[in-house]
Amino acid sequence: MPTKGSHFTDVRSVIENLTPGYPVYCLRPKELERSAKLFLDNFPGRVLYAIKCNPNPLVLQTLYDAGIRHFDTASLVEIATIREMFADADTYYMHPVKSRASILSARQIYNVDHWVIDHESELDKLIDVVGAGDGQVVLVRIRTKSFGAAFELSDKFGAPTQAAASLLDKVAEAGFQPGLAFHVGSQVRNVEAFRDAIATVGQVLENANTHIHYLDVGGGFPVHYINEDIPAFMDFMDAIKESLATINLRGDCVIMCEPGRALVGSGASLITQVQLRKEDTLYLNDGIYHSMSEQRGGFQMPVRAHRLKGEMASETMDYTIFGPTCDSVDVLPYKLALPADINEGDWVEFGQMGAYSNSMATAFNGFFTETYVTVDEAPLLPDED
Ligand SMILES: *Cc1c(COP(=O)(O)O)cnc(C)c1O
Repeated sequence: MPTKGSHFTDVRSVIENLTPGYPVYCLRPKELERSAKLFLDNFPGRVLYAIKCNPNPLVLQTLYDAGIRHFDTASLVEIATIREMFADADTYYMHPVKSRASILSARQIYNVDHWVIDHESELDKLIDVVGAGDGQVVLVRIRTKSFGAAFELSDKFGAPTQAAASLLDKVAEAGFQPGLAFHVGSQVRNVEAFRDAIATVGQVLENANTHIHYLDVGGGFPVHYINEDIPAFMDFMDAIKESLATINLRGDCVIMCEPGRALVGSGASLITQVQLRKEDTLYLNDGIYHSMSEQRGGFQMPVRAHRLKGEMASETMDYTIFGPTCDSVDVLPYKLALPADINEGDWVEFGQMGAYSNSMATAFNGFFTETYVTVDEAPLLPDED
């Protein structure tokens, strides 16, 4: 895929030029640059982009050009993507459960030297396949408490405090550089999640005989959606910095974070087209199985209707929105207010679509959204911070 897409001044000119009958992502490079700079200027350490959030080459290139040089990867394909695009970027294998084949390839072909584990069997596997030494780093992922993130992960990954402490000691005994990691979930709405997790790091360190060289505070930083009330970005940075000052870290401990959503969520909108209207029901050419899979989680994206010839009615009505597949699950979980006279051939643009959209799309029923263009226009939902 090209890393330079067609460029347009705004979304309207995308529609005028392409009159797209297929869905089109409109990337805002300036918005990605803004969010990258926000992290690079304010986070007290390394900023890793979690590529699963949006691995589109244009997105990766824009973040790289904005100064992102570290990438959180969780599969061999993600590692290969970064290694083959950027010779001087670092990839970190941050999945606590890895196949032997992918560990071996990551090490031997792609020179990966940062790993995450959350269980002794995974440490044994790592030692068995690649051995310790050569400055390799192993981070022990710790379990965190639930603080109302939109997506929780604490049940799936993370070692409890005491187990994490003894695992950390084993990592050091095996000859790796030891570190600790956590990830408090996605779209985290409460800065206490980070304070509490860092306090747990402090407890693990009190129970272990080892100092750490690395501490990874994960991702989870939230993005504005229509129905989401979230703390300011700097509140998260302040909470992290304050909490780090309260625990016993070596002065040279490298701090890392792994944002996905907060780097790219506001950086793209998606143009869809109305294929059919039946009274208060619209059939669009993208939906739950494709770019909008995350909307089942309840986020409401800002929307804007477009028509090329003539004005649209200023009064709105609520519509049920179906996606393109022959499947009744393919419906948005909320109604959308759109112009009362919207009809076949008009376009509906969804904002805040940069995160977990194309990366989670299936090709079900022969529909797949892959067109990416860039625009200069600001996001539909401006950042209020
Ligand atoms: C998904 C994931 C991230 C990114 O999460 P966001 O909510 O997109 O910031 C970071 N770290 C790990 C371990 C993840 O699984």
